[in-house]
Amino acid sequence: MKKAVVILFLAGLAAPPALGAQNAPAQRQDSAYTAKIHEYLQDPRITTELVDHLPASSTVPTPLKFLGKIVGTPGELTHARDIHRYMEAVAKAAPNRARFWTIGKTEEGRDMVLLAIADEQTIKQLDRYKGMLNALTDPRKTSEADAQRILHTAKPVYYITSGIHSPEFGGPEMLMELAYRLVVEETPLVQNIRNNVITLITPVVEVDGREKAVDTYYWNKKYRQTVGALPLMYWGKYVQHDNNRDGMGQYLDLTKNITKVTLDWTPTILHDLHEAQTYLYASTGTGPYNEQIDPITIDEWWMLAKNDVMEMTKRAVPGVWTYGFYDGWVPNYLFFIAHTHNAVGRFYEVQSYGPDNYEVKPPATTTSREWFRPNPPLPYIKWGARNNTNIQESAILFALNHVAKNKEMYLENYWLKNKRAVAKGTTGPIYGWVIPASQHAKENAAEAVNDLRRQGLEFDVATSPFTAGKIQVKPGDYIVRGDQPYRTIADMYFSLQNFSPANPAPYDDTGWTFPLMRNLTVLEAIDKSLLNGPMKKVTADVTAPGGITGTGNVVVVDNTSDNTLVTFRFKLANVKMQAAEDEFDAAGHHFIAGAFVIADANRAQLDPVLKELGLSGFAMASAPAVKTHDLDIPRVGYVHSWTRTQDEGWVRAALDHYGVPYTYFGEPKLKEGNLRAKYDVIIWPHGGTPNGAQNAGGSGGGRGAAADSGRPAPNVAIPYKRTAEFTALGYPDSTDDIRGAVGPEGYKALYEFVQQGGTLITEGSTAAILPQMKLTPGVSFEDPPTLFARGTILRGMITDRRSPLVYGYDRAEVPVYFNSGPVLNAGAGAPPPVEVAGAPAGPPNAPGRTAARPQGQNTTPMATQLKLSPWDPDHTGEGYGMLPTTADSSAARGGRGGGGGGFGGNQLSQPVAGLAADASAKTRVVMQFPANPADMLLSGTLEGGQTLANRAQVVDESIGQGHIVMFSIRPFWRWQTQGTFAMGFNAILNWNDLDAGRVAKATTDR
Ligand SMILES: [Zn+2]
Repeated sequence: MKKAVVILFLAGLAAPPALGAQNAPAQRQDSAYTAKIHEYLQDPRITTELVDHLPASSTVPTPLKFLGKIVGTPGELTHARDIHRYMEAVAKAAPNRARFWTIGKTEEGRDMVLLAIADEQTIKQLDRYKGMLNALTDPRKTSEADAQRILHTAKPVYYITSGIHSPEFGGPEMLMELAYRLVVEETPLVQNIRNNVITLITPVVEVDGREKAVDTYYWNKKYRQTVGALPLMYWGKYVQHDNNRDGMGQYLDLTKNITKVTLDWTPTILHDLHEAQTYLYASTGTGPYNEQIDPITIDEWWMLAKNDVMEMTKRAVPGVWTYGFYDGWVPNYLFFIAHTHNAVGRFYEVQSYGPDNYEVKPPATTTSREWFRPNPPLPYIKWGARNNTNIQESAILFALNHVAKNKEMYLENYWLKNKRAVAKGTTGPIYGWVIPASQHAKENAAEAVNDLRRQGLEFDVATSPFTAGKIQVKPGDYIVRGDQPYRTIADMYFSLQNFSPANPAPYDDTGWTFPLMRNLTVLEAIDKSLLNGPMKKVTADVTAPGGITGTGNVVVVDNTSDNTLVTFRFKLANVKMQAAEDEFDAAGHHFIAGAFVIADANRAQLDPVLKELGLSGFAMASAPAVKTHDLDIPRVGYVHSWTRTQDEGWVRAALDHYGVPYTYFGEPKLKEGNLRAKYDVIIWPHGGTPNGAQNAGGSGGGRGAAADSGRPAPNVAIPYKRTAEFTALGYPDSTDDIRGAVGPEGYKALYEFVQQGGTLITEGSTAAILPQMKLTPGVSFEDPPTLFARGTILRGMITDRRSPLVYGYDRAEVPVYFNSGPVLNAGAGAPPPVEVAGAPAGPPNAPGRTAARPQGQNTTPMATQLKLSPWDPDHTGEGYGMLPTTADSSAARGGRGGGGGGFGGNQLSQPVAGLAADASAKTRVVMQFPANPADMLLSGTLEGGQTLANRAQVVDESIGQGHIVMFSIRPFWRWQTQGTFAMGFNAILNWNDLDAGRVAKATTDR
């Protein structure tokens, strides 16, 4: 084996250091495959003794034999369906060392798969080994003595996932070769892995996106020179890069499927492969770290990362490092599924696969020698698919070997973490949580229970009333016992966040508190007696009690801001329903504004639907004495840009889930005009294209897919369509030409649509577009440079409770998710923007901000705490999440402001010639930020809050006969803000009656 390799090295490439050479029994090598490895490698330094060859097998097909190309072949990519076929073939050829199965379907009906690899005796008894890990997961069922015995015989599961980010091509390719090598190779290192670790591999997490990405690559190979570059338009059905931010919300099938595997196998380590750094980053992050992760896990992050860095550095492979990327704060990533279940999650970021060869010339900030980067990337290197394969396959083999060698330590840590989680239930301070079942939005509460149960959090339901400290538990209330291993989910999701701006710029959201985002009442039990209350396990999905009570021909459905109300309306589109415009009492019940009134009700038709949807109907003899308007079913149009299909999908997900039908089309179609004849409502979510913006092409096309050159004459249409050759393209929308956006004609048509009585609903960056164009006289756009409000939860104040947009909300306040902008000034007493003298602009790490840095490195940024504003909408005197320990809030400021990314509205929309504001415009501010910055921050981060004082969060501008509804908050953010979904649904349901309850001479009118 060594001889053959040496000969190949002499043939043109430098040998890696002899370090780690192994005294393996001679194993026949696949010389053709090995020769290709060396042929395709672009730089001799990017290799190790682990991957510079491939052993031969008479039974197991190599990727070369199976696919006709080796892994790392320049200019070639493999569809997920072929990667899956290959994995299946490996398992078929080596049933004693590998097993293959499917783990679920994607939205588009494709399979997700899993390959398990271990030695013969382990594969034979896979279920037994799975059972051992399950036992170590649950100290309630496993004694200490049993655990100590098990952790000598159990084997850690190392679960490798890749391909969640579709243009990051290399991981899924590499995993084919890794699978082959783990099954076939007989070196001591691979034997050690096979004998001591169970390796699970899901090579492609985003299967739908992989097929589109590979099709797009080959489409460009064929047509880029003659037609033009086709960007990767869509990944999965809903989102692109954000598919890796679904770990908390868990809407996407891919997240649900990986979670099912996690709950079934209780993997010890979950390792997700990405491609966005030079050359290989092993995750630890810069901090701040999530405060609910067991501290042991932090040490495990570092041990694993430093192992990989050290082993690669020993072999003189440059550019393998840790620390300087990402933070470790928000638990919304896929790999955080491991952390919510007390295991270890980690990831790599590898220099892109290509697949076309290219050069890497990183800036000095990437190549400097730093403490976390002892052998930094080079100023110049030739890169290619094989470099990518070699570096990550080597590193992950070292990681697997490290875990194999230290398996008892990792298993013991895992056992310990589970024990510590359960012990919190006996030591407190939080012994559990109670979610009152009869709270206002009772079906939203039930859905929250179901969503968390699917993640493994166990629920009980109270069987009779009891008291636990100050909490009065009622029968039917949902209880999360604090003495369960997966209480970590509740700790992580239910707690408040306090992200000091003294930290490095946050990588993503800073606040995510689940009860706030869902606007639910969740009670923290600080009295241990909760655990002794009468309760029984929840064993199936729950639904809030619903259906019709009372008698009479009129049925009134309580409006509770439950999201299933919109389902109810559209499901019974042929039933005439009206909305009460004010609160009233009837049938012994108090109704708030927005109740659905159904005259001549068909009880047999309504009752089962209400029961299914967890909604309450009250029958009465006659219609209540309250003003109503018809809930007319609108024809909904839904606009997406072709340049940015990333963000709108979360809005679409909410509409799909709750059954709101719509017509989905691209921005260029707006210019066809005559919109009012086709639609009553047009939804235009975040990511809309400002007028005059460059059409940059879709995001994330991947290197070689669309990035460069070759676009010919501007008049050639670029289609996005399914063809016999490219079957994955053209979904979920298709077009003959992706070019162009709204354009002046489109803007005119859109404005005309509103003037003629249509309702336009905008959110996030799109809400800023018409104000920037001066088409909303009562609403202006501001971009305060001192505002720092990255993905945070702030207080929303309902200023016009009679607006249909807030029907169903029973309190004057709602927590809202806000991400840096847009800031909309709609009067309502808002003072002009205040700038803080001396506060620097831009994100804390941006160039040009160095002047504000204190001398020396701030190694204790979390010592500087922000003062959170208590969330206590029911005026109990106790802010949510602030018991039992009240943080000492010195409220010192870190001296750094600046906005993070994520708003995406940095390009101002230009006015359209010949399109001026309608003189009839009237402004109605429905929700706004508090006047006092000290009242704003509920969970997350905020600096420069004074620039938000009294600024609009939800504003309804009436223009001509119609309305523009602008949400500067994000009502449909990442399947996490269920508490504000109803505001978006209200805009749809009440589309032609948004003036209801308007005070004739309100101060907000102009
Ligand atoms: Zn990625």
